[in-house]
Amino acid sequence: MSDSHGFSTRAIHAGQEPDPTTGAVVVPLHLTSTYKQDGVGGLRGGYEYSRSANPTRTALQEALASLEQGATGLAFASGLAAEDALLRTVLNPGDHLVIPIDAYGGTFRLISKVLQRWGVDHTPVDLGDLDAVRAAFRPTTKLVWCETPTNPLLGIADIAALAQLAHEHGALLAVDNTFASPYLQQPLTLGADVVVHSTTKYLGGHSDVVGGALVAGTAELGEQLAFHQNAMGAVAGPFDAWLVLRGIKTLGVRMDRHQANAGRVAEFLVEHPAVSSVLYPGLPEHPGHEVAARQMSGFGGMLSFRLRGGEEAALAVCERAQVFTLAESLGGVESLVEHPHRMTHASVAGSALEVPADLVRLSVGIEEIEDLLADLDQMLRP
Ligand SMILES: *Cc1c(COP(=O)(O)O)cnc(C)c1O
Repeated sequence: MSDSHGFSTRAIHAGQEPDPTTGAVVVPLHLTSTYKQDGVGGLRGGYEYSRSANPTRTALQEALASLEQGATGLAFASGLAAEDALLRTVLNPGDHLVIPIDAYGGTFRLISKVLQRWGVDHTPVDLGDLDAVRAAFRPTTKLVWCETPTNPLLGIADIAALAQLAHEHGALLAVDNTFASPYLQQPLTLGADVVVHSTTKYLGGHSDVVGGALVAGTAELGEQLAFHQNAMGAVAGPFDAWLVLRGIKTLGVRMDRHQANAGRVAEFLVEHPAVSSVLYPGLPEHPGHEVAARQMSGFGGMLSFRLRGGEEAALAVCERAQVFTLAESLGGVESLVEHPHRMTHASVAGSALEVPADLVRLSVGIEEIEDLLADLDQMLRP
């Protein structure tokens, strides 16, 4: 599938040619661990063992590389497995990395509780403040970790400016593109070296699979990552890869609806007397609005808001949800509500990354907007 085709054409066809033996239009689910060899070393299409490669996973990896406009896509068992493989590929004991002050809680836990024990040091920085980023570099800094928009505070970082800063200091820039999805933002085209995804979220899109991905900008980095993917072993299983591939086909239409609904929800919440602030990059008053408008083709389906009534009010809003479902995760077709302080981000409590207790996060789904607004209206009623 040529790169000249549009996004949704590539989402449906890249890596997904009809099966050469049967003509099956959908990539078959190859439930096999091993492959018959035609004589010792006589591999058919390079397949020998499914940790190293599986045709269903290959299809997903090619689709991911195409959508992010990268050289190499790699699919993992979870977003955190992808992160672990990336961090241990590009960092050695004694190295240092810069991470966002409001990084996803699981990313912070991996870096502070696991990587730290292996002698890798980190500095949390507000990535929206480029002077603070510049000041955080050490001679040992090998990686800048960026998330934009961030989870759950919807902070925006300038990917092109961070790529330039990282490269000036001999470091790589990794961007966790989970919130935007490649439909709205392609970090490699802005100078990033590698993109990270939790495919559990928008790429899968139906809350039925846990998965992760890396897309490298160059074949050289792609080879190093692929070596570690095979050596470390946390690959996506064939059925998981198949589900993500199916989700990807509708990514464009889903994201259009997610963000149309989220924009309406943001407008509704901004006017609501119980709400003290709405964190959504699509709002002109959001501090990252201009950068987001420049580097994204839309503002996405995630938003958070703070309650005048504090933590108690935030918990009450979550518990009254009817159309919204009180649950962790995000990016599926159904709308979710959660309390980051006690749920997804409980692991950062007491750290520099602690999130406010009066914060509620919404993953706005693709249901009818009137039903979502009516539910929010009753959730916010005192
Ligand atoms: C969920 C998430 C992850 C972790 O992915 P898993 O698939 O849960 O391992 C990483 N980054 C962001 C922004 C996420 O939302």
